[in-house]
Amino acid sequence: MREQAAVTRHENGWIRAKVPVPFSLKWVNAYLLPEEGGAWTLIDPGLRSADTEAFWEETLKSLGIRWGDIRRIVLTHHHPDHYGLSGWFQERTGAPVHLSMTARRYAMRLWGERETFSGELIAAFREHGLPEELTEGMRGHLRGVFGQVLPHPEDVRPLPPAGERFEMAGRSWELIGGEGHAPGHISFYDPETGVVLCGDQVLPDITPNIGWMPDADPDPLGSYLASLREMRRVGEAYAYPGHRDPFPNASERISRLLEHHDRRLLRMRELLGDRDPASKADGAGEGTTSFEMCELLFGKHLRGNPHNLRFAMAETIAHLERLTLAGGAVRTEGRDPDGRRVVRYGPSEQAAE
Ligand SMILES: [Zn+2]
Repeated sequence: MREQAAVTRHENGWIRAKVPVPFSLKWVNAYLLPEEGGAWTLIDPGLRSADTEAFWEETLKSLGIRWGDIRRIVLTHHHPDHYGLSGWFQERTGAPVHLSMTARRYAMRLWGERETFSGELIAAFREHGLPEELTEGMRGHLRGVFGQVLPHPEDVRPLPPAGERFEMAGRSWELIGGEGHAPGHISFYDPETGVVLCGDQVLPDITPNIGWMPDADPDPLGSYLASLREMRRVGEAYAYPGHRDPFPNASERISRLLEHHDRRLLRMRELLGDRDPASKADGAGEGTTSFEMCELLFGKHLRGNPHNLRFAMAETIAHLERLTLAGGAVRTEGRDPDGRRVVRYGPSEQAAE
């Protein structure tokens, strides 16, 4: 069932469309920004499915917007629920797709031809304790994403680097870079009207997932926290996020997110301390794997949901790596009985930063 107000018009002329997603977030916010001469810029169209294609066909019809009226597609980051329909839209509208070059690189790394990412991610999760019997479900989940993101857009235009400006909807937007949730994430800030289009970098009610990946930023949580601190300068800006509802006072929400991660790091440190003697006694080796920590934090029910388990694992590894770098945990690498490399974390005597 679709939510009642799937499409809302804002005072500034923007249109928000709540595009359905097939997981617990329920929807992603796409925004249509009016341009001169009846044209529109489309921000983050959603992931591709039969549902979302039907959603857009109905929505544009009800709004009286023709395919050709969409002159430009702009993406905050490469995640499937934002990037996925961009190629499909380009086929219908001929509109170029603007995104950061880092976002483009990751879209191709994850879902390009002959990608090797799925195998690398599963191998890395195995080292972090993911049991063998859960790897097939994870593989299936990763394969399933391809249908949500293809075709890739071909006419791709790089957004200017963070710190520079981008003209859109009659305003000159300052681009704010954000790391940690997705590499090369871009938020759009207009200091004059006090508006920030913040993608998934800052969300109300829920905390953006911290996206650890192999061969990427080794400390995504550290990068995320640094990005947030820098982004506090938007002050009381009104935020248009990628999920949930638009909200006032972005920097207030940013402060809450910073506190949340401080608490979670502290909690993990306690859990590592509590667990350590027990794991030594049962012969499971010293320390705690990310998978074990993930189950302590999020529960065993995630075993039945590879999508959520993947994000919970990434989140947990990101926190344990941050804790290690801050001196609040010790990372060790050992071998399991089959000779496979296993990464574990133990408590540190040192005070955390
Ligand atoms: Zn995202």
